[in-house]
Amino acid sequence: MRVMQFLQALETALQTLERMRNESAHRPCATRSALDALNQIAPVRENLLEDHAPPATRKQNEGGSSSKNDLGRVSVCTKCPNLASSRTQTVFGVGNPDAEIMFIGEAPGADEDAQGEPFVGRAGQLLTKIIKAMGFAREDVYIANILKCRPDLPAGSFGNRAPTPREMQTCRPYLMEQIGIIRPKVIVALGAVAVEGLLGTRAPMRDLRGRWDLFNGTPLMVTYHPAYLLRNQSLLEKRKVWEDMMQVLDRLEKPISEKQRNYFL
Ligand code: SF4
Repeated sequence: MRVMQFLQALETALQTLERMRNESAHRPCATRSALDALNQIAPVRENLLEDHAPPATRKQNEGGSSSKNDLGRVSVCTKCPNLASSRTQTVFGVGNPDAEIMFIGEAPGADEDAQGEPFVGRAGQLLTKIIKAMGFAREDVYIANILKCRPDLPAGSFGNRAPTPREMQTCRPYLMEQIGIIRPKVIVALGAVAVEGLLGTRAPMRDLRGRWDLFNGTPLMVTYHPAYLLRNQSLLEKRKVWEDMMQVLDRLEKPISEKQRNYFL
């Protein structure tokens, strides 16, 4: 019981700091030693959450790398009641918890909702191809979305809808924790919704992509969502994404071969 009370108190403190950071003109400030202490707590906290998660959640978390990093309470989250009641399951993230690169998209689609893993549909296959062309395996990087639940649709509708600003804001603390745990060297924001969810910036993608930004001190590259490349088969647009990825490789000080330099997706 004491552990649960500790976790709840910690959760409340983290949410309050997050709210202050997002809503207050006076951002919270912490010393380096305080940050180090919080970072030491994080893995302990994850283990405690795992140990105290409901049995159904624990079972899901034993399922492999796709759910290994689930914060436990995400899979039972009902903060967006409409999404909680329409989803098949939450889609937390997949990949290496020590990844150098973290790809962030917008929200699960139908395939992801069914399989519980981000980027597994056609757009996901293209993302996997991009990752391989960069010289990585899908398991080497980390892949997540701004939203952990599939955005619901009116009855009888098909396709996907973009998350609302409110939904993104509600789910944001989970993403913040996720990024805090992975601590990637580079974040790649896939598409305009990811940029809005991460940076709060709204602008046409032609003005955003190919540029470096900073997300809480982590270099962030903006590029097109793979779904855009599936809709727009122009070689020029595909090449732009590849040039963005070469910037990422360069930032990570990875060698880029001649074959890679001449590559078109
Ligand atoms: S989208 Fe995020 S905050 Fe909303 S119900 Fe799903 S997990 Fe919870």
